Amino acid sequence: MLRQRKLEMNNGIAGTTLRINLTTGEIERILSDEEVYRRWHGGRGVIAKILYDEVPRNADPLGPENIFIVNVGIMSGCFIPAGSKVEFGSVSPLTNGHGDSNMGGHFGPMLKFAGYDMIIFTGISPKPVYLYLDNDIIELRDASRYWGMGSLDCEKQLKKDLGEDFEIATIGPAGENGVLFSCITHDFGRQAGRTGQGAVMGSKKLKAIAVRGNRSIGVHDLESLKKQVMEIILRTKTHPNMEPWQKYGTSFFVKWSNDNAVLPAYNFQTTYFEDVDKIDGNQLVEQCLISHKACFGCWMNCGKYTKAVVPGKPIVHLEGPEYETTATCGSNLGMKDINHVAYINWMLDNLGMDTMSGGGVTAFAMECFERGLITEKDLEGHTLKWGSLDDVEHFLDMVACRRGIGEWFAGGSKQASEKIGHGSEKFAMQVKGQEMSGYDGRWAPGMLLSYMTADIGAHHNRSWTITVDIEEGRESVEGRAKIVVYLQHIRPLFDTWCICRLFWGEVDVTAEEIVESLNHITGWGVTVDEALRTSEMIWNLTRCHYIERNRANGRAFDYPPARSWEDKIPSGPGKGKGVTRDQIEQMLDEYYEARGWDKNGNPTREVLEDLGLVFAADNLEKLGFLGKPIPGGIPPVRGKKYKPKAF
Ligand code: SF4
Repeated sequence: MLRQRKLEMNNGIAGTTLRINLTTGEIERILSDEEVYRRWHGGRGVIAKILYDEVPRNADPLGPENIFIVNVGIMSGCFIPAGSKVEFGSVSPLTNGHGDSNMGGHFGPMLKFAGYDMIIFTGISPKPVYLYLDNDIIELRDASRYWGMGSLDCEKQLKKDLGEDFEIATIGPAGENGVLFSCITHDFGRQAGRTGQGAVMGSKKLKAIAVRGNRSIGVHDLESLKKQVMEIILRTKTHPNMEPWQKYGTSFFVKWSNDNAVLPAYNFQTTYFEDVDKIDGNQLVEQCLISHKACFGCWMNCGKYTKAVVPGKPIVHLEGPEYETTATCGSNLGMKDINHVAYINWMLDNLGMDTMSGGGVTAFAMECFERGLITEKDLEGHTLKWGSLDDVEHFLDMVACRRGIGEWFAGGSKQASEKIGHGSEKFAMQVKGQEMSGYDGRWAPGMLLSYMTADIGAHHNRSWTITVDIEEGRESVEGRAKIVVYLQHIRPLFDTWCICRLFWGEVDVTAEEIVESLNHITGWGVTVDEALRTSEMIWNLTRCHYIERNRANGRAFDYPPARSWEDKIPSGPGKGKGVTRDQIEQMLDEYYEARGWDKNGNPTREVLEDLGLVFAADNLEKLGFLGKPIPGGIPPVRGKKYKPKAF
């Protein structure tokens, strides 16, 4: 057990970083370094630098050399709206590149109230453990009795055993069993879902982190911060977007997506779901809603505490389903009852699997079954038909336990398609190994490019362009790349500062105002352009990391599955629409040019040096993947500055 001394810092930093060697049980307490935060802005930025520096390029993501990091960023836990996030990071077992994922709730702020900015886990524990943090008490405790429990069950049990005032982050059986798209769960429904962070926790035999703290966080200029935040509170309270967000959360997008031909249905075969009215936000509110739920410091309460009532099954309680889960586990699986979607949501949550990848993998398996590529014999006598909840329940159990062909799908749809063959890679809807989120990009080319180029594999959080695609013309791809680059700089800043983008982005709070809050907290005097440049630096570093680990030109990894250009949308308002292969090549060419990378998708020395990443340029050069100099030089500012309706 260690006791931690209290540190006084007035810049949003709590003061202490922990390094925990799970192999030896050694716990090292380090003073958090403001210089590191000043340069990398915390959250995903600090995580990216540590992973780049410390994880050997040939390290197995599920082996002892991978590092698992928890970072709370600068703004989380402070007196600001929705300062609720915490970022997790490690080399992703799903993509084999830099991986990070965040979640809301109360865990991040509580970690800071206990005095911690970051926890760096190395090694592998010889037995299941959980980390116990109670202000200055730091213990690795035996987790044998929790090992094997569902995520939701484990959180409930730990709260019972330790006290309701502890905040818990935990994994489920899928993470313990090394399912590569396993997530971390907290607050009975908040997940760090993407990039398989739960699998890394499981590989380290780390079942959970439990934290309680009651310290305050010092800031640079509290009076100015209070004044600014009060003004934002009063202004946003009556913003027209506030009411639908509070009532429906993200679920009000389900029908909108169907109407605009981006809702994936039947494993992205089409973008029109004929039964959308049975699973949309209205059904969620009318049939499932128990109460609204919010994260720390947020009054948008987009979370929906619900129940799923399905005849023949136990009544289950959960948070959700929100938009992404309804799309990936609802229309994409042909589910025609919101209670069934909610039940799948609950299953995935308790097993500890990301609902986006879990839905994507299941949809891929369903199409394989439809095409006869997997059979009832492979599925232990079960079928796997569109819209069948019983079939999905059985399949997910096979995956979580890695039983039979569940083993193939536990590696994600890309790995499964490599096992199944017969052209199935065409409809394994992923990029870099990570399944697409709940939008089909065939008639939203900027969205498709966003998936293709996201540094952690297909994910909407890095860049979301559908309203831009609609405004600028859905048939044309020209100019879309610069917008994607800009969004890929501004949106990940939220994961760097560890605040919720939904709140700040959806009620018209400006980037200038967010940076003003950051400056009131830190006293750094940062400008928006400087922050964007920091984000660009982080993006380039994660790109270098990916290329260095996977040893090929970056362009090779930036293609979507062939369905994206070979199959036109067959039904609904987008019938007959779709991008061509030439348009995909054009978007990639324009994207690399906008980033100052060469045509192979490799960062050039000029751009890396401009961003202060000389070491990364040297490393790429040694491996033969440094981008060739661009005739005429790199653009001075990368990414067209563009303020879309939602960022
Ligand atoms: S908008 Fe939703 S996800 Fe974001 S902090 Fe508020 S309740 Fe949490």
